[in-house]
Amino acid sequence: MATTYVPAPDEVEDLLHEVLLAHHPDLIAADVTFGVLMAANDEDDAITHHGYPALAVIKVTNHKDRVLGLPDCSLAIDAAWWNTASIEERKAILDHEATHLVLMLDKQGAVKTDDCNRPKLKLRPHDLELGVFLEIVDRHSKNSQEAQAYLGLVATMKQKKLKGDA
Ligand SMILES: [Zn+2]
Repeated sequence: MATTYVPAPDEVEDLLHEVLLAHHPDLIAADVTFGVLMAANDEDDAITHHGYPALAVIKVTNHKDRVLGLPDCSLAIDAAWWNTASIEERKAILDHEATHLVLMLDKQGAVKTDDCNRPKLKLRPHDLELGVFLEIVDRHSKNSQEAQAYLGLVATMKQKKLKGDA
């Protein structure tokens, strides 16, 4: 079954605005507009990104669609996950997705605009990603890059002193 989308309810838009005000005031100042969609799929992952299931995905609207008047970017959120998530988890995913957006600036530091006079955006990649084959962990244990990357990540998370972590 194909994923179906509905426009996000006001509560999602309101929480996004709150997160943008708190952590991404540059996006507010540049008047970046978001089209927010709730994605649902009863039989399969509602959202996939690079072939993997994802809770949300953000895309910069292409030039043709901007000319047609669509928002500057689109954010799709897995509705089933959203409905079970806490307010803190919801804020975290909205902050995560907004962090993917980077305003393009000129040499003077002003936001570049396209010929629709909309802010130019690019996507920031994650600081780190783990690519894991479980069978490689089975065969090579602590010598696998999988295990070493995971243990390195655990050490980094400990340094960050996760709040609420036992
Ligand atoms: Zn991401």
